[in-house]
Amino acid sequence: MSDQDRLGRYEAMLRGLERRHSLRRLSGRSGIDFASNDYIGLATSPRLKAAVAAALEAGVPVGATGSRLLRGNDPAHAALEAEAARFFGSEAALFFSGGYMANLAVIGTLPQKGDLLLMDDLIHASAHEGARAGRAEPVLFAHNDAGAAEDAIRAFRAAGGTGKVWIAAESLYSMDGDRAPLADLLALADRQDGFLLVDEAHATGVYGPDGRGLAAGFEGRENVVVLHTCGKAMGGSGALVTLPKVLADIIVNRCRPFIFATAPSPLMAVAAQAALTIMTDEPERRERLAALVAHAGRRLRETCSLAPSGSQILPVIVGDNGRAMALAGLLQHAGYDVRGVRPPTVPPGTARLRISLTLNADQPAVDGLFDLLGAALREQAA
Ligand code: PMP
Repeated sequence: MSDQDRLGRYEAMLRGLERRHSLRRLSGRSGIDFASNDYIGLATSPRLKAAVAAALEAGVPVGATGSRLLRGNDPAHAALEAEAARFFGSEAALFFSGGYMANLAVIGTLPQKGDLLLMDDLIHASAHEGARAGRAEPVLFAHNDAGAAEDAIRAFRAAGGTGKVWIAAESLYSMDGDRAPLADLLALADRQDGFLLVDEAHATGVYGPDGRGLAAGFEGRENVVVLHTCGKAMGGSGALVTLPKVLADIIVNRCRPFIFATAPSPLMAVAAQAALTIMTDEPERRERLAALVAHAGRRLRETCSLAPSGSQILPVIVGDNGRAMALAGLLQHAGYDVRGVRPPTVPPGTARLRISLTLNADQPAVDGLFDLLGAALREQAA
């Protein structure tokens, strides 16, 4: 096939994709940050940068150079895992190169054939990936509805299911900013002699004592596994999974994404450990964010007549994909980096602006954003 023919084929493929999916494009960073997950501003924290620079200077390698079970196991990984277990109060902790990988690893490995894997309807794509990789029967339950989860367990038992029950939920949902009924889900797991898997991606560093998340206090229990991502409020990248030692041993010995992947960068392990220290030492970061969240909630009500989520993730659901993207474009043009989110990231018909509040924006910026958004929504409605 000539180069010309090959090019023609790729172009046709791309056009086909474009017709079916409305292709997404990569864009850079500009404008005031209302889009990142750098909630407490740690990505550029002088202390975090200094910790990484000092480690680099002291000879910590940039790359792990191999898998954890071969030569890739660096002292920085072990130090972080020991500190994370202490910090979160769990028996053990494991460090992964990202939250996506960690969900794939944990959900794909721990639930066994014959078990019931219950997942909240709005759970992250990476949990679905874990379910696909694993051997348990996945069943979705209505969002944040512990009663619906219990009904699903009853149906599983009535159909003769005798396996273990695993309940997977996020503690704070990434696209809606609402919280899971964690206490109810844990009580349900307890009653069933089952397990609770909590993804704290958007809560770690933001909520709980020292930023330990919304499941703080559950860790250390023998039926709870918690995922803390290090790429959001913790300002680096990677993920820490806290869990009982017996489950950590299963992952280390059985989990393909753990065994067959290059270990995370030791420098990122250093960054994550430093982030835990900063989360303890600088509570004012969480306090400042909480004040900004309260202020933004008031402004959202005043300018857009919408109820705030109560967290740092404020969805403004507009429904139509084109409208959501047009509104995001208008705000970006005015210097506010707000992103539109469309299906399939969110359910059909719920395209939205996902306004993310971080310490990279201040109250005047929030005021300017909501004044403009309120005016734009009124104009669209007129
Ligand atoms: N879980 C949730 C709830 C998330 O929002 C994300 C990131 N979008 C992940 C897991 C994946 O984490 P990471 O970006 O560290 O791979």
